[in-house]
Amino acid sequence: MRFDFGVGRKLIIVCAAVIAGIGGALFAQGVGDAAASIDGARILTHIKVLSSDEFEGRGPGTKGEDLSIAYMEKQFRAAGLEAGNPDGTYLQKVPLVGIRPDASMEFTFAGHGAVLQALFQKDFVAWTKRMVNSSQLDKAEMVFVGYGVQAPEYKWDDFKGMDVRGKEIVVLINDPPVPDERMFGGKAMTYYGRWTYKFEKAAELGAAGCIIVHETERAGYPWEVVRNSWSAEQFDLASADKNMNRVAVESWITHEEAESLFRAAGQDFADLKAKAARIDFQPVALGMTASIEIYNKIRTIDSHNVIAKLTGSDAKLKNQYVIYTAHWDHFGIGPEVNGDKIYHGAVDNASGSAALLEIARAFHELKVAPKRTMIFLSVTGEEQGLLGSRYYAEHPLYPVASTAADINMDAINVWGKTRDITVVGNGKSSLDDVVAAVAKEQGRRVDSDPEPEKGFYYRSDHFSFAKVGVPAFDPDPGVDFVGKPAGWGIERRKKYTAEDYHKPSDVIKSDWDMSGAAEDCQLYFLVGYRVAEAERIPEWTATAEFRGIREESLRKAEK
Ligand SMILES: [Zn+2]
Repeated sequence: MRFDFGVGRKLIIVCAAVIAGIGGALFAQGVGDAAASIDGARILTHIKVLSSDEFEGRGPGTKGEDLSIAYMEKQFRAAGLEAGNPDGTYLQKVPLVGIRPDASMEFTFAGHGAVLQALFQKDFVAWTKRMVNSSQLDKAEMVFVGYGVQAPEYKWDDFKGMDVRGKEIVVLINDPPVPDERMFGGKAMTYYGRWTYKFEKAAELGAAGCIIVHETERAGYPWEVVRNSWSAEQFDLASADKNMNRVAVESWITHEEAESLFRAAGQDFADLKAKAARIDFQPVALGMTASIEIYNKIRTIDSHNVIAKLTGSDAKLKNQYVIYTAHWDHFGIGPEVNGDKIYHGAVDNASGSAALLEIARAFHELKVAPKRTMIFLSVTGEEQGLLGSRYYAEHPLYPVASTAADINMDAINVWGKTRDITVVGNGKSSLDDVVAAVAKEQGRRVDSDPEPEKGFYYRSDHFSFAKVGVPAFDPDPGVDFVGKPAGWGIERRKKYTAEDYHKPSDVIKSDWDMSGAAEDCQLYFLVGYRVAEAERIPEWTATAEFRGIREESLRKAEK
């Protein structure tokens, strides 16, 4: 059944009780009422504030941060939630280093009698994560290493023993597109396909630098997204070694620039790309050198996660935790596009932050709190590489082994009700059964991610929890919209990605319909509630890549 707010009060309560899937005892706790109280209009009100000009795009370390974290704290307090930090505050300090490269940089590729001068932002973006005033490549030998992957479980090695120390490696994005479905998760991206992996691998092998060649279709977003994401000040966690374990220069170039580069090197780029998709690929020394000098302005700032909690009602189980996460940050003020410099991030992720507030409020409406403790964590630095959630996972305020699950909200549905709900990384944990049960009671179905090739599972804050073993639920809006023709949802989603994603124009639009957001948040609420009440905590499935980490973490905690 699909439940409907248009009917009388009595019916609402009956329906709500049914969607909560509950008997008399739980009904008395007001679960159905609390779920039914989740309201699209209230979610929209929060989005309006968080995405307003005044909040300046919510950049970490800016006035936008001060306003954002103050707003989140105020709303948590108003909803009656407790301070989530055991020190009695609603904040967790996250030390970040902000690195702003000087825009005067030029990338020079030379060899075979040619000199290519690539232009910053137009042809490339580059930076260093090292906490130093300047970083450079001085005629570093360039080597094309295909996808830059070493995956022993598939006997795949793009380096084939080549020594890349001190060299500039050039790599392709994503997993190698091998036809064999058993390799690299078939159509689904594995961590080997993520750009973070490419830079990590380059550093591990001692390369001086790493260039990733952008491809719009395979990345799932246009060059402007790369450019805008990497042109402003960039943040990282301020690590003890000042990030000296990273390569000296990290960069992206456009596909066109790569074509020029390979042409200058006397190579056929299309042909090399085809070879790189094969297990017998051999790295290619390009006979070109790369030179660049990057000057940085560095500052260290304290950014913040905002954290609230609702203590569990069961004497024993309250020492276990269910965490909801949503990042409050976005890109702040950046390169102007169509006359606007404020990156409003209304969908990304004022919407998830608003959902977090509304779900937290609904939990406080319960007559009896769930058995386990609920944590509401509004994290910083997601856009810069999941920094706030990574910091929390590495400096948890509640033991990771006692954390039952993370439910993450990054961009919620603002286009109306859907018959489906998308679960990114579907099949990885027993959380999926809970989601399927709740969706069924809502008269909806669960779909797997329609674009698993884009690796969304590794692209938001729940991944920081998965990496330390906590089963994580990463829901995405459905695409099968009620009252819309087939394919409309996918088209709407593509339009958002092409026109508004990570651009100033990610603002509230006149065609928004928050009824789907309310329904999705009810689902997230009920999933969290059931996990908090269940006898056993969720588990990874046998083949999930994080299962071993969880087992180890639980074993250690038992000692
Ligand atoms: Zn984003």
